[in-house]
Amino acid sequence: MLVFTSTKSIKEHLLSYQKTNAIGFVPTMGALHQGHLSLISQAQIKNDVVVVSIFVNPTQFNNPDDLLKYPRTIEADLQLLQAVNCDVVFIPSVDELYTNTLKVEQFDFGGIEFEMEGKFRKGHFDGVGTVVKKLFEIIQPNNAYFGEKDFQQLQIVKKLVEITKIPVNIIGCKIYRESDGLAMSSRNVRLNLEQRKAAPFIYQTLLQTKEKFGIISVDAIKQWVEKQFTNHPYFKLEYFEIACENSLKPIDECIKKHNYRAFIAVFADDIRLIDNISLGN
Ligand code: AMP
Repeated sequence: MLVFTSTKSIKEHLLSYQKTNAIGFVPTMGALHQGHLSLISQAQIKNDVVVVSIFVNPTQFNNPDDLLKYPRTIEADLQLLQAVNCDVVFIPSVDELYTNTLKVEQFDFGGIEFEMEGKFRKGHFDGVGTVVKKLFEIIQPNNAYFGEKDFQQLQIVKKLVEITKIPVNIIGCKIYRESDGLAMSSRNVRLNLEQRKAAPFIYQTLLQTKEKFGIISVDAIKQWVEKQFTNHPYFKLEYFEIACENSLKPIDECIKKHNYRAFIAVFADDIRLIDNISLGN
């Protein structure tokens, strides 16, 4: 496994692969878990070389405290990557990617950037677009893998590729969960024992939403979810929405021909957790 911190040297190394059309890329912010590894194993099926980047991107954090407290476990990450036979790891510094200024590019993602995560994390998707574009330009992957755990981000990246015409296939990967249903997330390690024990409640709420969808109104489901979190001892609801998978516009009623998903964001103290579920079959 080769580890690069310099843009120039990783570019040189990947030159020969660019001719063979088989670079798979998995961008991450580190603190790796099985969810990340599931993306890597999918990438390994289809590509000659798999590149994983580890970069905690400052421009996508709207909350400086969240950036400060984001888990960083580089030694353990490298051991995990070695164990799954990852080929290339790219760990640039902030200066390496952004040079002197943390300049954020402004994108028009056609409106999906203003829904849900975009509403509650101002500027988040410009930060995501900026860093993903930079990484795509350096790695020049043929295939890039993103988790449905961050479903809105996946749709944003697909839009980014459409706008910029960067020639890369974007592959969405299923959400990987703990055995009790909690969606794996780097932030889960920050939960205390009691919060962690209670956390499957988030996924349980989504599963029950799926059962109720099409039987009772969207409004009634939203009221039910809000009630579940009222006075909850551990979790505070930030938002719950049922939205069309493509436009990400929240809906008031269900029109059969669309694919819908339920999206949720909750806080356990200052730890922000998100999850979502397809409401189709
Ligand atoms: P992150 O390090 O949180 O930025 O995540 C890097 C990539 O891994 C993103 O494409 C995430 O959507 C994906 N990812 C994170 N957690 C999971 C999970 N539990 N299941 C599947 N993909 C995930």
